[in-house]
Amino acid sequence: MSARTLTLLAVAALAVSWPWLPDFTVTELNYIGLYSLVAVGLVMLTGVGGMTSFGQAAFVGLGAYATAWLSTSPWVAQTLGGVLPAAWLPWIGLPLGLLLTYAVAWLLGTVTLRLSGHYLPLGTIAWGLSLYYIFGNLEALGGFTGLANVPALTVGDFSLASPRVLGPVIWAVLLLALWGLHNLLDSREGRAIRALKGARVMAESMGVDTARQRIKLFILAALLASVSGWLYAHMQRFVNPTPFNIHIGIEYLFMAVVGGVGHLWGAVLGAAIITLLKEQLQDILPRLLGSSGNFEIIVFGLLMLVVLQRFADGLWPRIAAWTARWRRADAAARPAAAAAAALPTRELPARGTVVLQAADVTKRFGGLVANNAVNFDVKAGEVHALIGPNGAGKSTFFNMISGVDAPTSGEVRLMGERMNGQPARAYAALGLSRTFQHVRLLGARSVLENVALGAHRRARRGWVAAMLRLDRAEETALLAEARRQIERCGLGAHALQNAGSLALGQQRVVEIARALASQPAVLLLDEPAAGLRHLEKQALATLLAQLRSEGLAIVVVEHDMEFVMNLADRVTVLEFGTVIAEGTPAQVQADPRVLDAYLGGAA
Ligand code: ADP
Ligand code: MG
Repeated sequence: MSARTLTLLAVAALAVSWPWLPDFTVTELNYIGLYSLVAVGLVMLTGVGGMTSFGQAAFVGLGAYATAWLSTSPWVAQTLGGVLPAAWLPWIGLPLGLLLTYAVAWLLGTVTLRLSGHYLPLGTIAWGLSLYYIFGNLEALGGFTGLANVPALTVGDFSLASPRVLGPVIWAVLLLALWGLHNLLDSREGRAIRALKGARVMAESMGVDTARQRIKLFILAALLASVSGWLYAHMQRFVNPTPFNIHIGIEYLFMAVVGGVGHLWGAVLGAAIITLLKEQLQDILPRLLGSSGNFEIIVFGLLMLVVLQRFADGLWPRIAAWTARWRRADAAARPAAAAAAALPTRELPARGTVVLQAADVTKRFGGLVANNAVNFDVKAGEVHALIGPNGAGKSTFFNMISGVDAPTSGEVRLMGERMNGQPARAYAALGLSRTFQHVRLLGARSVLENVALGAHRRARRGWVAAMLRLDRAEETALLAEARRQIERCGLGAHALQNAGSLALGQQRVVEIARALASQPAVLLLDEPAAGLRHLEKQALATLLAQLRSEGLAIVVVEHDMEFVMNLADRVTVLEFGTVIAEGTPAQVQADPRVLDAYLGGAA
């Protein structure tokens, strides 16, 4: 049975039993559905994207207040009364809420997402509180008393007022959201989103605009919360600021964390656990302690500590492991769908053209001069090695010529264009790709997915296409390209393994495959042979020679002198940030300054 069949069975069971469930259970399930909608946005934002928000309840409030105000305001009734039937207003409340949420989330996201580390969550607390007080202090929104008599949703003469009728709508919206998000994560944009957590530098080098992806994810999570608020307002038929307070925002985060921060269904599980638990505790604790009070909050906090200690990934992975015996593995279940579209290919510059050039590049870290007026270039169809003792400034120089970091002074030109001040993704756009000395892979994703991220820029389909599964032809082409590069690099047998499970030497080769998936004109490799065994090094040398003959320009930093001297056309030697020699391998090997640097004057 596939995971999908299992899901469909669970949904069918719920649908069939729905008419016979007690009223109480129906209401509870409706709340779980509404909370899940918010929590699943948080799973995307926090669990997948690495951005913690305590403020989601405020976005629920925006959705709820927008529709409540629209459908109860006398001013609206007076102004639009002649134009629109009153029964339409609750429906128009949804786009109004979404529009408002979009605008507010864009504004808040633009400001807060720039904050790094703990300042981002603190920022979300700040605006979460402000929005709550705005709701409470606006006269038009009924102040802290709120807005009463919110009408129910109706379709013609049919009313969706009763929880038993509205429930299927809530769950249909939730399932639709889960489906769309699942599709999104299983796409090129999804791979980019997964890289936002802890791998942004790498993602930028693969051509991903990470700032844009972050704000889109933030807005998406806010919109999901807003939809939840719209449904809530028409279920509760009454809106006041209390459920949009910051401590409810914290509860939403609990739900996402308890269920499983990185798993969409974990949101539903977390919402169910927290909702049921809260209710039980509110029931039991006062009886146990003999006085009333919000004791459940204290018990909650303690339970949260236990969960975080014992199940850092939340509870969903446990459940998934438990159901694994009835499920087929996801990779095998993936259909070999849709004919592949052709990916665009780049025309490589003519052999011998200077493609990348550094002129007097200097980099200072405080008082330390890591690169001192370095001049360097590489031509199409050439391997140019950069060598030097540890700490000579080779990796720093790689960062200067790939846009990862900016030179203090000097100029970098790529394909004839001046690149100073450009982000790494602009280098990627012009055909430069690179690997990192300290591998930067998504360890918990397959080798195939990691390599496909390298081809990010060769495809176009965006978030909406991915959610609606309109990107399949392109996706098939991307995965086929990734597989081709993996096989070319000799890792075919490991394509479906998690990248983090490979030996470090192999992980470096995965980085090379990822760089090749972008079909680069310029390839920068930082210590590609480190950790490889003799035969693997030979295979790598053969591959690089092959790429050179195809017309690529290759810059390689490497410590293995045999590897470098056999492969390189030119060698540049760096010591203490300064170029001390440049020439053919034979010239460099005979240079007394180089011998001096390497052998400490023994020559
Ligand atoms: P290599 O790759 O040749 O071993 P690096 O480029 O990594 O050398 O480092 C060159 C020098 O710059 C070292 O002294 C290192 O400590 C320093 N350095 C590198 N990155 C930074 C940084 N971000 N901040 C401060 N110093 C740095
Ligand atoms: Mg280095």
